Amino acid sequence: MTRTVLGVGERALPEYAVYALKFATRDARRGDHFHPDSPGAPGDPHDDTPMPMDYFVWAVVGDDATWVVDTGFLADEAAARRRTLLRTPAEALASIGIDAATVGDVIITHLHYDHIGGAVQFPSARFHVQDREIAFATGRHMLTDQRHGFTGRHIADVVLAVHAGRVVFHDGDAELAPGLSVHHVGGHTDGLQVVRVHTRRGWIVIASDAAHYYEMLERQRAFHLTFDFPALVAGYERVVALADAPDAYVPGHDPAVLDRYPAVAGLEGRVARLDLPPEPDHTRPDTHHPDRQRSTA
Ligand SMILES: [Zn+2]
Repeated sequence: MTRTVLGVGERALPEYAVYALKFATRDARRGDHFHPDSPGAPGDPHDDTPMPMDYFVWAVVGDDATWVVDTGFLADEAAARRRTLLRTPAEALASIGIDAATVGDVIITHLHYDHIGGAVQFPSARFHVQDREIAFATGRHMLTDQRHGFTGRHIADVVLAVHAGRVVFHDGDAELAPGLSVHHVGGHTDGLQVVRVHTRRGWIVIASDAAHYYEMLERQRAFHLTFDFPALVAGYERVVALADAPDAYVPGHDPAVLDRYPAVAGLEGRVARLDLPPEPDHTRPDTHHPDRQRSTA
């Protein structure tokens, strides 16, 4: 990465600490994840190879403010969808000293149940959402299979939040603070946005469900729930372009994230530091992706 020489009166960009916090998981198979019409390689719905899915929220911590990315989901949704809730997202945040009740700004990458379902944990927050995501989640596409990732009650709560003045709408790209911005990419849902953060290792991108797993982006494959395939592929290119290194993006659901990045002491397997360089050898035996072992360091 290159560093710009600052002129008189210019200030260096802040370098945020960024955390991935795992709060839930589920057993799954490769056949559950890859779309049979994937642009990269078609998914095989009968592939029973295990490929578990983890669920995360993220925290962006600066000197002056803390931003949370996504809200996760709670016990009701875990029961309804048979996910394993390990801790609430608020409990995960508390483990690194963040009080969800006082967080002022939450960026919502998209409105799927596992990203907006924990909004009640953030009573003081404004929610940053793309125009197109709210239009999508309240519009005609919810009469199709696209609605399965959404829970109607969550969307109703978002509409109530709009009327309470607690939603900040974004259209495309927006700088939220120096060194922190959102970027619309769509694809997985129509209004999905990714988050670009400046850190001590340069710009990183919280891709969320722009790429559920590293394999999705690396091999140009599509998750089974995809709204717009061309936008999805363009989104892969955008994510890489926004990051300072080809692998400086963070997928939304890949258990490998907690292997690649240093853990917070005492929170191994639960919280990773994304602003620190990846572990030199993050490739502990990986049964989920046998064909790419040691290939992506
Ligand atoms: Zn999603």
